[in-house]
Amino acid sequence: LKWWDHVAPAPKDPITSVTEAFLADTSPTKINLGVGAYRDDEGKPVVLQCVREAEARIAGCDFLGIGRESVSSAVSSKLVEESVKLVYGKNSDIIKEGRFAGVQALSGTGACRLFAEFQRRFYPGSQIFMTDPTWSNHHNIWRDAFVPERTFQYYHPDSKGLNFPALMDDVKNAPDGSFFLLHPCAHNPTGVDPTEEQWREISYLFKVKNHFPFFDMAYQGFASGDLDRDAQSIRIFVEDGNLIGCAQSFAKNMGLYGHRVGCLKYVHILDYILSVLCNDAKQAAAIKSQLQQIARAMYSSPPVHGILLVSGILSDPNMKALWVEEVKVMANRIQSLRTTLRKSLEQLSSSLNWEHITNQVGMFCFSGLTPEQVDRLQRGFHIYMTLDGRMSMAGVTTGNVSYLANAIHEVTK
Ligand code: PLP
Repeated sequence: LKWWDHVAPAPKDPITSVTEAFLADTSPTKINLGVGAYRDDEGKPVVLQCVREAEARIAGCDFLGIGRESVSSAVSSKLVEESVKLVYGKNSDIIKEGRFAGVQALSGTGACRLFAEFQRRFYPGSQIFMTDPTWSNHHNIWRDAFVPERTFQYYHPDSKGLNFPALMDDVKNAPDGSFFLLHPCAHNPTGVDPTEEQWREISYLFKVKNHFPFFDMAYQGFASGDLDRDAQSIRIFVEDGNLIGCAQSFAKNMGLYGHRVGCLKYVHILDYILSVLCNDAKQAAAIKSQLQQIARAMYSSPPVHGILLVSGILSDPNMKALWVEEVKVMANRIQSLRTTLRKSLEQLSSSLNWEHITNQVGMFCFSGLTPEQVDRLQRGFHIYMTLDGRMSMAGVTTGNVSYLANAIHEVTK
């Protein structure tokens, strides 16, 4: 039988292949700066205290039994409402007037995929503009939804910051009514975000050009440590009267990753909310029903466990306050390690400029290291990152930062 003889191995994913190489390395000094998952100062995955408490509260309830379906939809709407408040602000008119269509989706990838499918279905032939560069999986997601991809300029390799004039030119030159995929904060992979003033200019131009912004919000809280501040870009767009779409994640900021420890064994899902702003409640209902129909054919309904945790936390003021503090702690740890790494490199009298380590924000530092330098770090120092020089700052600790600085200094001399 020759049924699958023509199937060749798929090319390796750039991020998972770094993890594989890291796991195979037996050196005690190895450092993983590949995957963008938060670690504590011991390099260990973190289960937030608010999540532990939420877990304890739901333990023993028969949510997973007979009542599962109804619980799922009731909790799901509660979750959507609370999540929408996080992005658009708790007093937003959008919520009061029901001018959004929100559904729970399956992880960041799932929310983007759902939107990409929705885009192709209702705007066949449309394309999506992505920042150059962007998260590697964005390319796969829209490709598999058969939406052609275009890029727009974003990052400036010399300044290792934003190429704002080029970005504005590309937004201006795109055909009116184009779809754009934007990172509202903590851009992946560059760690480069527009300033508030620049967001205002971008938003104004979007309105003029009648472009549709789709925000992939994977790191709310990680840029500034403040959830409201990190949502400011989106709120500016909304204030300007832009209709938007938004994928919203609790994967990073609630620590609901795949490798669950202890009682969080079910939570291999990363809960995402997908919301699309609408002109009125009638349009919102139509859009929501279409999104639900797309999801129904893809995976029917999302798992219930993670959403019970998230909605438990968001709907209880004490638990929510605890979460807000814990987000701050995570963001501050990363920020302080940025400062230490930059200082350490400067103390080693590196002739290069390392200001971008502290200018960039969020989980990642786009180091400017060349593929050859990245390769030397891996072979010579057991330090792993993607070939584009993206370092996940969450992998840096007070224990390994000077080893890392020395190694970077050695390969950049
Ligand atoms: N979007 C961006 C920009 C990301 O960086 C990530 C995670 O790396 C995601 C979405 C989330 O992906 P998922 O939740 O499917 O792992």
